[in-house]
Amino acid sequence: MTKKIDMHAHFFPRITQDSAAALDAEGAPWLAIEADGLRGHIMVGDKKFRPVYSALWNPAHRLEEMDQQGLDMQIVCATPIMFGYRYAAQKAYEWSQRMNDSAIEHCAFNTSRLKALAQVPLQDLELACREASRAKETGHVGVQIGNHLGERDLDDAHLVDFLVHCANNDIPVLVHPWDMMTDGRMKKWMLPWLVSMPAETQLGILSLILSGAFERIPASLKLCFAHGGGGFAFLLGRAENAWHCRDIVRQDCPHPPSHYLKRFFVDSAVFDDRALRLLVDVMGAERVMLGSDYPFPLGEQEIGKLVSDATWLARRDCDRILAGNAETFFALT
Ligand SMILES: [Zn+2]
Repeated sequence: MTKKIDMHAHFFPRITQDSAAALDAEGAPWLAIEADGLRGHIMVGDKKFRPVYSALWNPAHRLEEMDQQGLDMQIVCATPIMFGYRYAAQKAYEWSQRMNDSAIEHCAFNTSRLKALAQVPLQDLELACREASRAKETGHVGVQIGNHLGERDLDDAHLVDFLVHCANNDIPVLVHPWDMMTDGRMKKWMLPWLVSMPAETQLGILSLILSGAFERIPASLKLCFAHGGGGFAFLLGRAENAWHCRDIVRQDCPHPPSHYLKRFFVDSAVFDDRALRLLVDVMGAERVMLGSDYPFPLGEQEIGKLVSDATWLARRDCDRILAGNAETFFALT
């Protein structure tokens, strides 16, 4: 059997409404589990945010499904609604610690097959760095951050400093889109997930490239963008052309965008063989890692099928995408 490591999967701990209130009674997320213990909702205050099922919070059920899926390992991270970036720093710090300890508890069910990425109070540089380092010591294999802090994008000095800390302390980083445009024209048909999320990711990558931030971040940083990097691979030519044709595009960035491809990874969650082919062509097979977005309905239903079925991929490249790249990226061996 081919080894499979899914590096983009979510968990949500059994947070009660009362314990969520310690952060914010109105706005902090919690978990309402139905009497059967199998289904539930992520709640915000008294409102249902998303229907979920027990693999999200029950590691025994997760392992059962991993066996069915033929998955050797899954790396779980917070559901982005858990980030808490808008709260006072100290509160968010304590919340992050609770969530991270819950993640380690979830993974304790089978430490060789379940690993976790930590969340950090990104709004406060010192506390974010402190928690990222603490999490590394308590067994997390990296951190997950949202792609922005309100008005501040990844090129913001504060966020760049956090990435530098991660580089200097050998902490891998997964950037996940969050807090995307949801109102107005995005109201229907899950458009925020279909349009805004990939755009957020594209924005995150281009803000790091065009600001010249990659020139200030050590090349040792292990950085990965979720969802295949959003529209990045498809739109690289557009950015490249713009850099060559307009001085305002290249004013902060000494090299064309394609120069920075070697500075980051992407996951494989693109759901279409043609998109995967372009992604591997642009990024290189050594920079794509299996990521499913499990256990949410917009995740890959048969985890790894897209990659395994790609007959155009050399065997060695297929193995790298399914497991080898993640083993190196997260130092799993
Ligand atoms: Zn996700």
